[in-house]
Amino acid sequence: MIDLRSDTVTRPTAGMRAAMAAAEVGDDVYGEDPTVNRLESLAAEMIGTEAALFATSGTQSNLLALMSHCQRGDEYIVGQQAHTYKYEAGGAAVLGSIQPQPLELEDNGTLDLERVRAAIKPDDFHFARTRLLCLENTQLGKVLPLSYLAEAAAFAGKHGLALHLDGARVFNAAVKLKVDVQTITGHFDSVSVCLSKGLGAPVGSVLCGTKPFIKTARRWRKMLGGGMRQAGILAAAGIFALEHQVQRLAEDHKNAALLASGLQSIPGMGVEPFSADTNMVFTTLKPQNGMALAVFLKERDILVSPSGRNRLVTHLDVSEADIRTVIEAIQQFMTGG
Ligand SMILES: *Cc1c(COP(=O)(O)O)cnc(C)c1O
Repeated sequence: MIDLRSDTVTRPTAGMRAAMAAAEVGDDVYGEDPTVNRLESLAAEMIGTEAALFATSGTQSNLLALMSHCQRGDEYIVGQQAHTYKYEAGGAAVLGSIQPQPLELEDNGTLDLERVRAAIKPDDFHFARTRLLCLENTQLGKVLPLSYLAEAAAFAGKHGLALHLDGARVFNAAVKLKVDVQTITGHFDSVSVCLSKGLGAPVGSVLCGTKPFIKTARRWRKMLGGGMRQAGILAAAGIFALEHQVQRLAEDHKNAALLASGLQSIPGMGVEPFSADTNMVFTTLKPQNGMALAVFLKERDILVSPSGRNRLVTHLDVSEADIRTVIEAIQQFMTGG
């Protein structure tokens, strides 16, 4: 099987499994799991914050951030298509009593700051209190420009908003730009990073921020049922990912670029602008054709998301040879063979 549905499908590598098996563990709810503690300090050091917290998933990590920045009756401004708004089951509203103010994203994955400004509510008891601006990087595989991040940080400061980054794939952005990840994360008050996407760990995310912020988030994590015990077995995978599987994201980007250029050379097939900015390629097929393509490919042991325009994601379990196989199969599909 060549599975291009998502980079969440990656399996732990042999080195990662060995690290997990050898992990020293303790009860993390007591703060006594040395491996979890090591992951949290490593994440904080890499992202450039005072502290970090190991969370069960990116959804939980983002929710902890929203609930730690905002009180009941506060509001966060977020992209209409952002994960923290659209794909987290409304958790901020349901569990945090936090009102989302979604805004349409620009084509490059940014939120127009003039539109954000217009959405900030005045201090008036008719309105929710606008507290937080939430960005996502990468956004559907797109890398947000560094200049924009600096502008967004200055903007948030000027308007008294906290700034959170859903950095599920922030290392993809850093590797793509060939910069230290702190060049990106340094602009934010808090950052959530997924260990279980392209970094290849089986489970988990880290939330990074100041010590008081992480202390608050730790309480919410316990309330949400995210206090884990001998979690060092999982944290060991996260440490291995951060120490050994960051720079290799460049291979995924190279494979995505190869895939995009291969698809573009097939008559009738197109890819969306910004495709292959990092590890995602979006075809321009009409939904019905996209569905048919997914069925065709599945019969050839290739999995792609069947919904609408096809999203093809490269990751550590997809090789360059696999990409050539996929291009050939899609070529066959397009020429009716
Ligand atoms: C995957 C993802 C998350 C978190 O998802 P989980 O499946 O809960 O780990 C958050 N934001 C973005 C942009 C993501 O892609």
